[in-house]
Amino acid sequence: MKVLDALRHGVAELHRELTRYELVIWTAGNVSARVPGEDLMVIKPSGVSYDELSPENMVVTDLHGNLVHGELAPSSDTAAHAYVYRHMPEVGGVVHTHSTYATAWAARGEPIPCVLTMIADEFGGDIPVGPFALIGDDSIGRGIVETLRGSRSPAVLMRNHGPFTVGKDARAAVKAAVMLEDVARTVHIAQQLGKPDPIDPEHVDRLYARYQNVYGQ
Ligand SMILES: [Zn+2]
Repeated sequence: MKVLDALRHGVAELHRELTRYELVIWTAGNVSARVPGEDLMVIKPSGVSYDELSPENMVVTDLHGNLVHGELAPSSDTAAHAYVYRHMPEVGGVVHTHSTYATAWAARGEPIPCVLTMIADEFGGDIPVGPFALIGDDSIGRGIVETLRGSRSPAVLMRNHGPFTVGKDARAAVKAAVMLEDVARTVHIAQQLGKPDPIDPEHVDRLYARYQNVYGQ
């Protein structure tokens, strides 16, 4: 199946961006992609180091996290990714990291305020905080979906845990994770120096509309 092979390749490759931008340590971060038209997803295997990831060892599960293809167990975050795909049909990619600055905001349970044009462009407003949730059932997935439904943001800071990002495909979700860490860092630094200025909501709307519809090739 050509589409599945391409996705295995793409998802394995996108994990390199997590290390390139220093969003992850050890094996604590993962990318997944929905298999278009199937109730399947491709995700990182559990506990395998980023240097050892390859298209061949990517895992395919159904959208309840049950193993369909692959030798290895899927990521321990599979249930959360699967829940998002089941409840947000527009989402084609999900990323989870514990990137330092974004996770520091999650530790304080504080949304990242929309004080930069880059935040308005990519996130469409404040970057929201999701509930505290324990791993093991659907709590994390439910928290992600409930929070993202009330927001234009493709990123949610799960309280005391870290960020999850979504996108139309895995690449878009990785981009959101990279941008999130960058703005989390910048706004953190700005706050050390005083109170950052919020952007007028009307301007946020205009920036978001332009970036989402006009910007790029
Ligand atoms: Zn985590």
